[in-house]
Amino acid sequence: MTKYALVTGGSRGIGRAVCLQLAEMGYPVIINYARNAEAAEETKKLVEEKGVAAELMPFDVADGAAAEAALETWQNAHPDDYIAVLVNNAGIRQDTMMVFMENEQWHNVLDTTLNGFFYITRRLLKSMLTKRWGRIVNVVSLSGIKGLPGQVNYSAAKAALIGATKALAQEVAPRKVTVNAVAPGFIATDMTKDLDEEALKKQIPCGRFGKPEEVAALVGFLASDNAAYINGEVVSINGGLYT
Ligand code: NDP
Repeated sequence: MTKYALVTGGSRGIGRAVCLQLAEMGYPVIINYARNAEAAEETKKLVEEKGVAAELMPFDVADGAAAEAALETWQNAHPDDYIAVLVNNAGIRQDTMMVFMENEQWHNVLDTTLNGFFYITRRLLKSMLTKRWGRIVNVVSLSGIKGLPGQVNYSAAKAALIGATKALAQEVAPRKVTVNAVAPGFIATDMTKDLDEEALKKQIPCGRFGKPEEVAALVGFLASDNAAYINGEVVSINGGLYT
């Protein structure tokens, strides 16, 4: 039996760094993404350079049927293996003041972050519970703790995911499955490249945006055996920004 890791949104940014971190820990990595095949191929190559296997698994996390089909196909191809580490990282921003927010902007963000978590985690929980070992790490945000103007949809989605993290942790802890969340502040990725980094970094006590690798190191720790007694926790990683 081989334990695999699945990272949603593993093609770019924080997700890619998490794939590489888990590869360094010896996990074969399944890289999910939505549409950027070129970036996903690059992540796959980088993971394989660490000496472990990598597989691409493209599907839209907001599409429950697509998630179910992809995971079913994988399990049928790997009857003796299971996905022991799940990092729910896929996420999008569609920022605007709430007074101008379209239904679509609300639903797109909620569907990706919250429904994506639900569909994939529910599907993978059974084998983690049966095998009595699992690690689930949800990538949330400072925005879901503090609330940020212009991000009512995103703050709501991430806050809901924090609630789900805490509730699920209590359901599955007896079977040695942990469910935790990491809450980054500003991290330098495609998601933040439209922001005014020079202005924003003056508000950050560490004086800079974080790196995807720094978030990945935290995710890696929470996925490790050393973190067995951390469950239902939200760990901020934000350079000292008050949360
Ligand atoms: P990026 O925009 O750099 O990457 C987003 C990733 O998510 C890509 O791999 C993308 O795939 C994937 N993705 C988006 N929508 C879907 C979907 N519907 N189905 C499957 N995959 C999808 O984002 P970051 O790396 O910055 O963010 C990663 C996570 O961290 C997100 O949850 C984000 O909310 C969170 N976060 C980021 C912060 C930051 O400052 N960057 C701060 C706080 C939280 P593809 O390449 O195919 O488009």
